[in-house]
Amino acid sequence: MTLDLANAPVLIDAPQPVPGVLKLAPYKQGKMALDGVDQPLKLSSNESMNGPSPRAIAAYRALADAGLQLYPDGSQRALRQAIADEFDLDADRILCGNGSDELIQLLMRAYLAPGDDVVLSQYSFGMAIVHATSIGANPIIAEEPRLRPDADIILARITDRTRMVVLASPNNPVGQYIPRTELRRLRAELPRDVILLIDSAYADYVTEADYEPGSSLVEGGDNCVMTRTFSKLYGLAGLRIGWMYAPFTMIDAVQRIRTPFNANAAALAAAEAAVRDHAYAAQVRASNNSERARIAAAVTALGFEFIPSFANFYLIRFAPSGRTAAAAGAWLEANGIIPRPVNAGGPEQCLRISVGLPEHNDQVIAALTTFARS
Ligand SMILES: *Cc1c(COP(=O)(O)O)cnc(C)c1O
Repeated sequence: MTLDLANAPVLIDAPQPVPGVLKLAPYKQGKMALDGVDQPLKLSSNESMNGPSPRAIAAYRALADAGLQLYPDGSQRALRQAIADEFDLDADRILCGNGSDELIQLLMRAYLAPGDDVVLSQYSFGMAIVHATSIGANPIIAEEPRLRPDADIILARITDRTRMVVLASPNNPVGQYIPRTELRRLRAELPRDVILLIDSAYADYVTEADYEPGSSLVEGGDNCVMTRTFSKLYGLAGLRIGWMYAPFTMIDAVQRIRTPFNANAAALAAAEAAVRDHAYAAQVRASNNSERARIAAAVTALGFEFIPSFANFYLIRFAPSGRTAAAAGAWLEANGIIPRPVNAGGPEQCLRISVGLPEHNDQVIAALTTFARS
């Protein structure tokens, strides 16, 4: 993330960005193409290979006919109500945005000043550290040695300067969550003026009884906010639509700085249809979770380590087989499959791969089988 300042052009008289901006490097999107492969199987960005609900696609098309010249409903009323109905939440505490990414950025702009500390659990959303840094806040990393957010390690990082804690549950790139009792304890032991931001982008996949996406914590106080997305289970990553569930004070703060039409009309229409199509979402969840179990068994039988995941992606660790993740990644790419290498600082010798449709997962298993024998 750090810019190579030694090689940056020094233009003394040119306008200078604020210091936080100069600490950042532009975002690099994961690989989207492979040389010489017509239609690679892209399993690098946790996108839904199921695609969105057919009803969401129909709503999107209908919107095009209804009039793209009109501004969207800035109050986002219909989508907020649909989300409230589906998840049994209070529509007045919901706000939608241009992906949950935008909402995380808005929350940080509303609550962080230069010099504030933000404690980021290790495997949280990559953009959170970018937004915090650009504001001039200090990102403090809380390690996840058990591969999931750890309440005690986060609490040990809190100082008088801490204004916000950010964690993802399930986290990324691992796919594991902090159990409800531990999340509640973290919240209970945090100073009341520190925000706990729970990024629950993968909540829609989790069926475990001890999982808490964060909504009950939001309703139980003033310092907790949950962010959610339509980019994953709902298959609408291309439209950029996410939402947050927050105390009224935080909704009010973000209302003051968001652009009035931060959720576009196509995204509002498609997401409303998607969230109301309960049966489709349930089918995607069931298929993802049973495929993930099938992949786990196959990968383990090949002598690689499948790290348990509760999301729509998984990590394979190649070290136990004496092979490297780089070699496995090159092999998959030679077979037309794009995995995501795990960056420095992530679990070592791992690749992250999205769960696909059964035929996609068959392709991955077949390629890993020939890799294991090679
Ligand atoms: C994909 C993802 C998101 C979702 O981002 P959007 O801006 O809503 O597309 C948020 N957090 C994590 C950890 C993710 O992996």
